[in-house]
Amino acid sequence: MIKVAINGYGTIGKRVADAVSVQKDMRVIGVSKTSLNAEAYVARERGYPLYLADLAKKPAFDKVGIPIAGDITEMLREADIVVDATPGGVGAKNKGMYEQRGIKAIFQGGEDHEVAGFSFCSDCNYTQALGRQFTRVVSCNTTGLCRIINTIDKAFGIRKVHAVMVRRGADPAEIKKGPVDAIVLDPVTVPSHHGPDVQTVLPHINITTMATIVPTTFMHVHAIKMDLKRAASRDEVLDRFRSHSRIGLISKGTAIRSTAELKEYVQDMGRPRADMWENGIFEASVTTNGDELLLFQAIHQESVVVVENVDAIRAMAGAIKDPATSIKMTNEALQFSAIG
Ligand code: NAD
Repeated sequence: MIKVAINGYGTIGKRVADAVSVQKDMRVIGVSKTSLNAEAYVARERGYPLYLADLAKKPAFDKVGIPIAGDITEMLREADIVVDATPGGVGAKNKGMYEQRGIKAIFQGGEDHEVAGFSFCSDCNYTQALGRQFTRVVSCNTTGLCRIINTIDKAFGIRKVHAVMVRRGADPAEIKKGPVDAIVLDPVTVPSHHGPDVQTVLPHINITTMATIVPTTFMHVHAIKMDLKRAASRDEVLDRFRSHSRIGLISKGTAIRSTAELKEYVQDMGRPRADMWENGIFEASVTTNGDELLLFQAIHQESVVVVENVDAIRAMAGAIKDPATSIKMTNEALQFSAIG
């Protein structure tokens, strides 16, 4: 059993904890919080030992009957590996604490590549993560891009990728974030940071990205054009997607043409928290024209990286050497098969 601590029990941390808790080769030894809020009640409900960044906050937890197991240093003492899911930039500050204790740590996409010196996507470079002390699971947008680019590159070869990201403005519970009534160019200049971020995982890919932010809270949508090294038929491309366990096809028959309808669909399919761990490719958008491929995909920002974190834990622990085996174990434990 790999003993996993989650430092930062928020949007990503609480999902990673739940995904770890159902794997047969790992267990959650603790999660941490900075202050009392609804997520502390969820941790208690799930039975995760709760640790505090600052024990001065303990009386607030005592008052409402939420037991505290200790501070973060005590949590780290119990763990083989820590998933740092604190807000972007905090992970970099925490790195010294992990180094001092010689504990393995996974950082998230809000940290720079240099914090871990290695950026991870299960499909692309699982074997390079074997036994590592530090790994960074790339952001939701980069994970979604890496999965599909790697799949197409392996099958047909890629000369050039151009992608435009339409990003959600905030996560559903983030009441202080916007925009409320604007389409924001993020940034105005080209490229956005996503292309270079893809290259931290797939350095040989020639990619340019542009990004906007819109007033929604559920999912990003990517408009992607790839110039291939050889001509591909639409059916060949769809076959590649169908055989990938983390690429879903939103079929034409569903009549879904928005993120709102997609949320309803995955929710109705019984996904916890309406999570969509796979890329959602709009099947009707998949168009080939000789050596050109165009498509739209939806990426659920809150969940797409969760399965990657589970695989990264396994790779860094060194127990499972084969990426396909880990991916299968992760998916099966979540009772997950891609839509379509
Ligand atoms: P979040 O704000 O929802 O959760 C972060 C949690 O960490 C909060 O509970 C906060 O109280 C806690 N925290 C803050 N400082 C801490 C500290 N010093 N010690 C312990 N806990 C601390 O953030 P999130 O959205 O889950 O993002 C976490 C990371 O995942 C970031 O790097 C982010 O860029 C990345 N990420 C986020 C998303 C997303 O859509 N939310 C998607 C992919 C990757």
